[in-house]
Amino acid sequence: VRLVHDMRRAGKAPEEIESFFRDKYFADGEKYKLAVRTADNQAPVLALNTPRSYSLYISIPFCPSRCSYCSFVSRTTAESGSLIEPYVQALCRELAEISALARRNRLRLETVYIGGGTPTAVSAAQLRTLMQAVRDNFDVPAVREYTVEAGRPDCTTPEKLAVIKEYGATRISINPQTLSDEVLAAIGRRHTAQDVLDCFAQARRLGHGNINMDLIAGLPLDTPARFAQTLQGVLALAPENITVHTLTLKRASNLVIEHAPNAYGDVARMLDSCALLGENGYEPYYLYRQKGTLQNLENTGYTRPGYAGLYNVFIMEEVHTILSAGAGGSTKLVGPDGHIRRIFNHKYPLEYIERFDVVQARKQGVDDFYAKYADLDPETAR
Ligand code: SF4
Repeated sequence: VRLVHDMRRAGKAPEEIESFFRDKYFADGEKYKLAVRTADNQAPVLALNTPRSYSLYISIPFCPSRCSYCSFVSRTTAESGSLIEPYVQALCRELAEISALARRNRLRLETVYIGGGTPTAVSAAQLRTLMQAVRDNFDVPAVREYTVEAGRPDCTTPEKLAVIKEYGATRISINPQTLSDEVLAAIGRRHTAQDVLDCFAQARRLGHGNINMDLIAGLPLDTPARFAQTLQGVLALAPENITVHTLTLKRASNLVIEHAPNAYGDVARMLDSCALLGENGYEPYYLYRQKGTLQNLENTGYTRPGYAGLYNVFIMEEVHTILSAGAGGSTKLVGPDGHIRRIFNHKYPLEYIERFDVVQARKQGVDDFYAKYADLDPETAR
């Protein structure tokens, strides 16, 4: 997708871009079309970006249980529940610091993304505390998009969905991964497909009008037929976004550690059923590929017209700075000239809490980075 953008910026004709994809990268026609359509759908989103734009990412590294394919640092609430309260308190402090940092550097907040882990793994009261801190420190009504991942129905209650709505989030994510109970059990999820459907219905009842649903192709015990059924089940709900990932085997995941048998099915055939998305009016708007994905396939976000997830495009295309709060957070500074620098928070919740001052000292790097661009673009901060 980036190549398409770059070549278009360089004035290349569509035929030149197509032959470059075909002859240099041996991309087949369908993959080429996917890249071009994705680039087309991103164009209006990228046009929103300014040299002083940034997005805010807030990490909640807790989950109700560990999925077998997960390599993230997330802790289960059973093993680390006592850390959640001090973690939320530290996060609120960091949000105040980030807000000051953004103002000093005259940055404009475009999107907020609370992800994880599973943000709804914390209590409704803790979620309220956190979202109140976002409201206190940032101009929430002025942001273009505010996403909260309500990924798993085994911890997403109507009360938490109501808090998310009350505090101004404009987009949520409810992630079935699959609608097969057998596959859900095989990946360590302690909920059923019906729980996902119920959670979705509750979210709609509470007024959530922009919902993403994540799916994974290639999960253990899944088959092309089952995957197509999952897709049809999700399409019947008509969420605004559907993101189709390909299973990635990561070294730190239980799937790899436990040497689970290779029962991943024909992933390419599973992705073939994504044609259903186009037939139902969904368009690709971002895509990326990770190291270690099955059959070297991609992850693609699809959207109904007008609902492209802005944060996803901004982060994937690396067009602006992402200031990150919380354990595992990676702040990515993107200069107006394309220069990129990263600053990492501590990886685990306990070290984030106990060595909070070290994290904050590192953020001095944000001031240093933007000092180089002091004369550029006098836009004021929101
Ligand atoms: S919900 Fe996501 S972050 Fe949590 S264990 Fe599962 S894959 Fe990992």
